[in-house]
Amino acid sequence: MARYIKSACRLCRREGLKLFLKGDRCYTEKCAFERRGYAPGEHGQTRRKQHSDYGVQLREKQKLKRMYGLLERQFRGCFERADKQKGITGTQLLLFLERRLDNMVFRMGFANSRNEARQLVRHNHFLVNSKPVNIPSYTIKVGDQIQVREDSKKMGRIVEAMETVARRGVPQWLEIDKENFTGFVKALPAREELTMPVQEQLIVELYSK
Ligand code: SF4
Repeated sequence: MARYIKSACRLCRREGLKLFLKGDRCYTEKCAFERRGYAPGEHGQTRRKQHSDYGVQLREKQKLKRMYGLLERQFRGCFERADKQKGITGTQLLLFLERRLDNMVFRMGFANSRNEARQLVRHNHFLVNSKPVNIPSYTIKVGDQIQVREDSKKMGRIVEAMETVARRGVPQWLEIDKENFTGFVKALPAREELTMPVQEQLIVELYSK
């Protein structure tokens, strides 16, 4: 499957905010955005030009897509599913992104970043409701239980991630049983509980053209 393989930090610098794509490193002084908080490339330090309406919508879409580490086709697919749901399309889009298995693994603290979570899911380290699932885009429902497989409980990356998750915290709509390496989805988040700085309505406008 295609994936983005260039520098993740470059994406934060391009979007002009921290997207937290590299786990713990994002919270240290090694963060590239902290050291060089301007756009990458030869003209990165020159004055930013004013975007057109289309440009603003495009940047908003890129920002959200990059936060969740998706490529255009996958992101567009999420939007199309969200568009078919009842309710506000922008909020539905955010909920679809949140309900992806790789995101849940990251939110529960079994991985340091969504990228790492995706890799761990693909490598079969998790059970959903006691059944192995290795599809990062698998949609999680309220009441589902995600568990680290018995053989993977000693895995350094998972143990380390669980030790450092306190730094970013586990959202209230999830419940974690650290002893048993298990997470439980109590509810879906309300829009105000998703604190990332995204104006999803602009993305809806962009795709509705
Ligand atoms: Fe972004 Fe993290 Fe890199 Fe900082 S360290 S620029 S937050 S990916």
